Amino acid sequence: MDGPILIIVAVVAVVLVVVGLVIWHRSSRPSEDTRAAAPVRSGLGPAIRRALGTELDDATWEDIESALLAADVGVESTTSIITSVRRSRPETVEGARIAIRDALRGELVEVDRGLTLTGSPASIVVVGVNGTGKTTTIAKLAKRFSDEGKTVTMGAADTFRAAAGQQLESWAARVGSQVVRGQEGGDPASVVYDTLESARAKGVDVVIIDTAGRLHGKKNLMAELQKIYRVAGGDDVSEVLLVLDATAGQNGLAQVREFSNAVPISGIVLTKLDGTAKGGIIVAIERTLGVPVKLVGVGEGVDDLVVFDPDGFVDSLVE
Ligand code: GDP
Repeated sequence: MDGPILIIVAVVAVVLVVVGLVIWHRSSRPSEDTRAAAPVRSGLGPAIRRALGTELDDATWEDIESALLAADVGVESTTSIITSVRRSRPETVEGARIAIRDALRGELVEVDRGLTLTGSPASIVVVGVNGTGKTTTIAKLAKRFSDEGKTVTMGAADTFRAAAGQQLESWAARVGSQVVRGQEGGDPASVVYDTLESARAKGVDVVIIDTAGRLHGKKNLMAELQKIYRVAGGDDVSEVLLVLDATAGQNGLAQVREFSNAVPISGIVLTKLDGTAKGGIIVAIERTLGVPVKLVGVGEGVDDLVVFDPDGFVDSLVE
């Protein structure tokens, strides 16, 4: 082959490889927007559409009330929504749909739902009942931070269950984070201390602390969480996230109350929203307890964590 032809072939080959790498990189790394825009699935939408039907009468309001209650919106919010919609006297199905949308939106708190990451390292304490998805959520958070170029150290402060530490370790290996573990049955707060020391020494950006969530021995658990919170920095802790299982329904409200008595919950991660048609619990939690749902879990995969978008949520319920 002549020299010039060889050069052209080489240039074309390099261009093809670069284009291929760019396409691969984009498809293997979901953008913030894609993840934030993922829809929250709920069965409430079809139920409201059915209830609205083609014309409005007294039965319409009863059907909407039933649909809201069945979706875990809760009695307080349901009553407030129905009252405000009826008071607005919608004349058309479309008018009623908009009134329901606005009333639902009015039940959700007005706050910035982004995670606050202050301090170096920033510290996030994750609390919640066992089985709700704490460990999986920690892995998802670590993956999210690492996608943003931040380094993460996880602290396995559930020293009660050896399996919890192992599970965290295997997630950490998958998402490229470090883990600090303590002795089985050891003092969870000392794991928190060691995790922060290690993170500071290595200049790590974010520390995420896993905690125990056994329901029996509640009093001890709550005292343990308070100690963990203090050692993690008290008021300087960036976020205290409560993980709630969306399929637990109204029981979730009791869990928010219980954990709020021990530590100041800054946000809720509602998991397993993919496994239920009852997204209405979000409304009940925010209305009754004023704690914002910041993130939602929509699957078992490490990328299945999305920022909760209240406008998209209410739209998906009524459109
Ligand atoms: P932990 O005991 O609170 O640490 O809970 P795990 O993280 O071990 O999760 C318990 C189970 O819930 C596991 O089978 C997870 O795969 C599953 N899980 C966690 N989050 C989600 C979610 O958003 N959607 C679904 N479908 N499953 C989830």
